[in-house]
Amino acid sequence: MTRRPLLLAAVLVTAACVGCSGQTNSAGGAATASRQAAPVAPTTTAAANCGDPTASLRPAPGPLPAPGHMPDGTFMQKIYQRGRLIVGVDQNTLLFGSFDPFTGQIEGFDIDMAHQVAAAILGDPNKIDYRAITSAQRIPMVQNGTVDMVARTMTINCDRIKQVSFSTVYYRAGQKVLVNKDSPAQHIQDLSGKKVCATTGSTSIDGIKKNQAQPVLVDNWTDCLVALQRNQVDAVSTDDAILSGLAAQDPYTRILEPRFTDEPYGLAINLSHPEFVRFVNGVLDRMRADGTWASIYAKWLGPVTKAAPPPPPATYKD
Ligand code: GLU
Repeated sequence: MTRRPLLLAAVLVTAACVGCSGQTNSAGGAATASRQAAPVAPTTTAAANCGDPTASLRPAPGPLPAPGHMPDGTFMQKIYQRGRLIVGVDQNTLLFGSFDPFTGQIEGFDIDMAHQVAAAILGDPNKIDYRAITSAQRIPMVQNGTVDMVARTMTINCDRIKQVSFSTVYYRAGQKVLVNKDSPAQHIQDLSGKKVCATTGSTSIDGIKKNQAQPVLVDNWTDCLVALQRNQVDAVSTDDAILSGLAAQDPYTRILEPRFTDEPYGLAINLSHPEFVRFVNGVLDRMRADGTWASIYAKWLGPVTKAAPPPPPATYKD
């Protein structure tokens, strides 16, 4: 097979976030791969059983308050008074959160979720300060109040709901595997004992370990693509949502079926702001009902999926 030109678009999407407003905090892109792509001990723990972790807080009854009319004393009012929503995002994941060097914008499915919340509070979808964060930075950044919300391919699970609150599910992903086209592997089981790349702090590590493969940890998903291109790893394994974006950047790769985990995505919010969780769930409910969710899905995932699913239904615990 003809050898591919190394690095391809991975270098482009990890470019510095010069177009982002506010401070950014990217933990590095393609250039970090060779330094970091060494096998290390995985750090995630198995999820405890907690019932349905995706059951969230029900929106307050009645219509959502209009922008500029946030109830007194709420976190939404604080955001309104500040004039910007601060959101932790990815800038390296094509389709969900990636920096476009041609427009200078961060864009994707996750980013459009953040635009909807900003519009509902501030009356302007663009009043957002982005913080580009890694998988491992999501929980600490929510907990220490650096960001109001994380919109970054984040799976809701039993371990995480003890640390942060989640909105209702806005996207259902599942873990798969990406290999070079000339790899003999046909299933995740064929990678037993092999080096498989994932990001530190991701749920993907558990899926790799359960299949007896050896996790190799990096900061960003594009670092994994570069490690695969350099043959430092045998595969990359994470959510199909993320792998679709990597495969779109490298025609010398292919995705192995089937999905072997369920990864329901939620927007992460500090445990001390239940009224904000209810508000965001109201925004998501409105998006499910008025077709906004479907049009955002069509915009980002339409080109890479066969048929558009209905929006994931909301489940509530109260
Ligand atoms: N959905 C997985 C997680 O939340 C992987 C995605 C990621 O790390 O960006 O850990």
